[in-house]
Amino acid sequence: MEGKEVCSNCILPADFPGADFEGGKCKLCRDYVKGQGPYGQEDMKERCESYFEEARATGADPNVIIGISGGKDSAWLANHLIEKYGMSPALASIDTGFLSPLAHSNIPFTVDALEKRHGRKIEHIFIRDPGLQETYRKVYCYLFKNPGEEGYVHTICYICAPLMEDITMDIATRRGIPLVAMGYSPHQPDVEKLLFEMPEEEINSSHVPPWMTKKNEFGPEDMEWFWDPKKYEKGTKFPRVFAPLHALPYDQEKVKRGCVEKGLIPTMEDTDPRDTNCLLNRLMIYFDVMGKRGIGFNPYIEQFAWEVREGTASKKYWLDVFSEMDFALKMGKFKDKEMVKVSKKIGIDIKKLKEGV
Ligand SMILES: [Zn+2]
Repeated sequence: MEGKEVCSNCILPADFPGADFEGGKCKLCRDYVKGQGPYGQEDMKERCESYFEEARATGADPNVIIGISGGKDSAWLANHLIEKYGMSPALASIDTGFLSPLAHSNIPFTVDALEKRHGRKIEHIFIRDPGLQETYRKVYCYLFKNPGEEGYVHTICYICAPLMEDITMDIATRRGIPLVAMGYSPHQPDVEKLLFEMPEEEINSSHVPPWMTKKNEFGPEDMEWFWDPKKYEKGTKFPRVFAPLHALPYDQEKVKRGCVEKGLIPTMEDTDPRDTNCLLNRLMIYFDVMGKRGIGFNPYIEQFAWEVREGTASKKYWLDVFSEMDFALKMGKFKDKEMVKVSKKIGIDIKKLKEGV
């Protein structure tokens, strides 16, 4: 973004696909009507609240399972569901083998903080199965070599995160927990992937990626981690899977402040998309911007441009973050030792992949 024209309202650069600048403003900003977005609609909020009520009425304990990533959104969500809706959650985290050290320290910190704050034991299920980690490694290796047209972040995250959902759904199903709540913020994942709730057709079908069944490097030991309703006895009740933050009022700045004030996470350093709870993130951004098969722009800019447009994230802050990243990428300063180490662990060659081999 160094020296590039940027939208006068959000943070999209002029060369972003579909930005179509007019009078210094991008098309998305020109077409934007406040409160008309796909998330946080009144009926969605009502539906969400009715699910909490239904789950409480079942008498199940825990009555919701919440995915905890070590980030602010899931921490805030867990606290909010206890405080505002009187829910009794179990928390679940999945170690892909590529969780950042920050995630490893934030996850237990959050669980501990929630227990202290609410004065009770909260069950935390931490899946760190070596077999699952090997499956994740193989999946990453395959996808880094075979990214879709939508780029690295969108190809890889949209297999990785849903697999976490699948594993959480399995736990909920086996234990009769009626709800699976994911801590996704709005626009995460894209609207087309998940508006608010996983549709019934999706719950009633297998989630094994079709390409996986055709590749020799993957076997039943990999596929068994993915959701498959046929695994369960006929008549088994499946949980609802949804993203409450898509339905409830969401303000990034408020969530950040809330987490710090309530002591739910130790620092706010994780809000930079370079250094999240996943060690693959830098590599994916690098290939998306610099790689021959990348998308040619920062894969996170659209999401943060949307939050700036909504007025829930600071324009100056995100403009600085993205400009700095852009500068580091162009100057060859983005790639670091950790990235090289991570690529070796996955089994990919940074240089070859950059050239698109
Ligand atoms: Zn704009």
